[in-house]
Amino acid sequence: HMSTAELQKLDAAHHMHPFTDANGLAAKGARIIKSAKGVYLTDSEGHKIIDGMAGLWCVNIGYGRPELGNVAKRQMDELCYYNTFFQTTHVPAIALAAELAKIAPAGMNHTFFAGSGSEANDTNIRLVRRYWQVKGMPEKRVIIARKNGYHGSTMGGGSLGGMSPIHAHGGKIDGIHHIDQPDWWSEGGDMTPEDFGLERARQLETAINEIGVDKVAAFIGEPIQGAGGVIVPPATYWPEIQRICDKYGILLIADEVITGFGRTGNMFGSTTFGIRPHIMTIAKGLSSGYQPIGGSIIHDEVFNVVAEGGELYHGYTYSGHPVAAAVALENLRIIQEEGIVEHVRDVAHPYLAEKWHALADHPMVGETKLVGLMGSIALTPNKATRAKFAAEAGTVGFKVRERCFANNVIMRHVGDRMIIAPPLVITPAEIDVLIERAKKSLDEAYKIVKD
Ligand code: PLP
Repeated sequence: HMSTAELQKLDAAHHMHPFTDANGLAAKGARIIKSAKGVYLTDSEGHKIIDGMAGLWCVNIGYGRPELGNVAKRQMDELCYYNTFFQTTHVPAIALAAELAKIAPAGMNHTFFAGSGSEANDTNIRLVRRYWQVKGMPEKRVIIARKNGYHGSTMGGGSLGGMSPIHAHGGKIDGIHHIDQPDWWSEGGDMTPEDFGLERARQLETAINEIGVDKVAAFIGEPIQGAGGVIVPPATYWPEIQRICDKYGILLIADEVITGFGRTGNMFGSTTFGIRPHIMTIAKGLSSGYQPIGGSIIHDEVFNVVAEGGELYHGYTYSGHPVAAAVALENLRIIQEEGIVEHVRDVAHPYLAEKWHALADHPMVGETKLVGLMGSIALTPNKATRAKFAAEAGTVGFKVRERCFANNVIMRHVGDRMIIAPPLVITPAEIDVLIERAKKSLDEAYKIVKD
């Protein structure tokens, strides 16, 4: 029964947080989240906070569903743990892999489980390199990814990602090449979004030719860059990427860690954008965050080649963890039986879309983007020129986020972009609350920025 201040002090003294400045944390204290239900969090001071980010884009079915706890308890009592190494298995892992094969695009019939999205992307690096080894082309090992992409923060995931501060702190593994991102608002200059989308996609072709097709194993991309700021690519982008991957016969990995399990209005973002991946990275919404679990869903074409080569020499103690798998399976049952993917489409268009795009009326809001329940707004001092604020990048976004925090709404800022990805079960009335608090926060931040 410690006070908030006492807990914060203890937290700063002993708990090193991910992606957090430790000294800043010690000075200010972290907000302590005590409980959550539906789309609302409650903190240690009793504030009810609407969660516009579904935690870290993961609590797709909303907080506090008792079914998942019940399943976890039952599974823990029956078989709390067993591994899936060395020709052993168990029912939860079997059932979840079979269910994923059912809901994944045609031909994607095999799942390799991991504990997280980062681990799954590490699996993918080994998988695609092994694929080409077995095919007798071991020199094909370069993976092409995008600047400002995010694929996790293990050494593998962080290297696939294109975030320079992550590379700067600890380096990156070899054999990863980054091309530019399809962010028209920030980098499109005078081009139309359509031309810009083609130009950015064609950088893949240029890179393949420069590196040599005999050295390139795969391309990886998020259907929509999430942590990079909800960068929705122009409509021309993915079809051109697909054409290039097909033309050169390189493997395509869609990182669906955020876009999977309904976020974009289809079960997978690949469907929304017409992508035909060989591998999909999954995590987050797979269990709605109720248990840590991720994986790689693998197409027959890749699986069969890798299997031909014998053992992959890869695995995690918790690959297919029975409790996590049972919880994920229950989560998938809820998503499907309750029509949550259909709900995303219904509530996103036109209800949220109208309100979200109307934020562009605000004096410092430029581009507004929304696909399903994944949205961003770009903050700018000049909508016509798409200018950046003179202050250090992210300063204004940070101010808006601070006002959001004070107004009991969670929105994330990525530089000077504000983003949302609420639980997929959000109702129209809850959308009203989210938008109203977002507007209030924008107004308050604008006042500070103007003065
Ligand atoms: N890939 C994408 C697209 C992500 O957004 C994330 C996490 O935000 C990851 C991978 C890493 O997942 P995890 O944090 O579960 O390791």
